[in-house]
Order: sequence, then C-alpha cells, then structure tokens
Amino acid sequence: MNYPDEHARASRSADFRFYEELNDFLPEERRKVSFRQNFQGTPSVRDAIQAIGVPHGAIDLILVDGLSVDFSHRLQGGERVAVYPVFERLDISPATRLRAEPLRCSRFILDVHLGKLARYMRMLGFDTAYSNDWDDDTIIEISLEQKRIILTRDLGILKQRRVSHGYWVRCSEPLDQVQEVLNALDLSRQLRPFTRCLECNGDIHAVGKDEIRSHIARDIVDRFDAFWQCAECRKIYWQGSHYQRMQERIKCINRN
Ligand SMILES: [Zn+2]
Repeated sequence: MNYPDEHARASRSADFRFYEELNDFLPEERRKVSFRQNFQGTPSVRDAIQAIGVPHGAIDLILVDGLSVDFSHRLQGGERVAVYPVFERLDISPATRLRAEPLRCSRFILDVHLGKLARYMRMLGFDTAYSNDWDDDTIIEISLEQKRIILTRDLGILKQRRVSHGYWVRCSEPLDQVQEVLNALDLSRQLRPFTRCLECNGDIHAVGKDEIRSHIARDIVDRFDAFWQCAECRKIYWQGSHYQRMQERIKCINRN
C-alpha cells in the first residue's frame, strides 16, 4: 500500500557515475554512463553506493555536484554523484581524498583463497601477509592495524564498513592475478625480486657458504655459490632450478 508521504520519500533520486574499475561491480547497462538511482529518505552517500552494489572499501573519492564529500554526507535528492576508485590512476590530487594518505607504500594482506598469489607477491618483494586459517574479521583487523591493502576474491569482505583499503581480484589464475594486481595498483616500479621469504614473508639476505654448510645437503653446497637465508624462519635459498623457474616467471610478468 502506498501512502502519500511514503511515495514522496521513495521518489527522491540522484544521478551516479562510477569511474574506472568500479564499473566492474555494476551491471552492463550502468557501466561508464550516468544513471539515476532512487532512494528513500536522506541516506548517507556510503549507504546509497552500497545499495548500488559497489563496496565502499574500493572507493577513494566521491564528488557530489563537483565537491568532494566523505562517506557520511547525506543525499537530499537531485545531486550528481561521481565516484572514483582507490587506485584511480588519473591525477585527482587537487580534490580531497577520503583518506589523508593513500596506502601506496603497498603492503598487503590476502584472503585464504589467494595462497599462490601470496607467494608470487613475496617473490616480487612485496610485504604480503597471508595465512590459510584467517577468517574475515582477522584479515580486516590486521589490515587496519598494519595498514595493509586487502586483496580478495570475496566481495563480502570489501563491503564491511571497517575496511578502508581493498582490491577485488578478478582473475582466477595465480599468474594472471599477479599481473592484474600489478597493473591495477600501478606497482610495476616497486618490484624487488628475491628479497622476501616465500614461506613466511621475512626478509632474506645473502649468506656465506660457511654459515649454512651444516644445514643443507653437501652436493648443494658444492654445486652453488650464492645463498640467501630468511631472517625469520631461517629457510635457505640458492640459485637452483626453483630459482630459474621464478626468474622465468618474473620475466614473463614484466613483459606484460
Ligand atoms: Zn621465512
């Protein structure tokens, strides 16, 4: 049943336009165009955007009638709302971002489905927290405490209110995923291959043969000259076949 005042509340609307990768969250007909969205009352811009299906954790800048606003800004109806992603590569520096400093120092935490991507990220030198038994709450808490960007295949995490920085990984193959993340977050100038332990994310450093001789097989000590060791878990690395394979993959990633 429609009472007159309910009808009046429901008839408010604003025009929305989402930019760049935020379009991936929208149905085809709403991508890269301005569209009208109805709402009731005077919702916060955060709630209005969530209702459209775009997780607020993926958003860095909202302009309402050309002025930047924060998530709590209330819509009255009739506005034009432009929404930009966290990793928008266009220069929007003159406008006010939702956060004082974007987390471009690029530390990450990955959800439980992204174990292989975690190893690739570490291989390329990115500080990457990962455990296959962390639940969503734990991932969000660590991300806030340690200022880590959440990489996830699960949109549910990015829709939670507490999340400040996140990226939804679209690809399903690990090698495609690492390429996707490097491109989307513009990370290709930050690669530091072979500086981080694949197992535990600790720093690895060069060590002399004498330091590791008693810990690995004799024929390996004899066959290779350069060794590295993790400062945290003490795992030893050398330029064996595994290293060659990683080199190939890094070349592959850099080519794309
Ligand atoms: Zn380690």
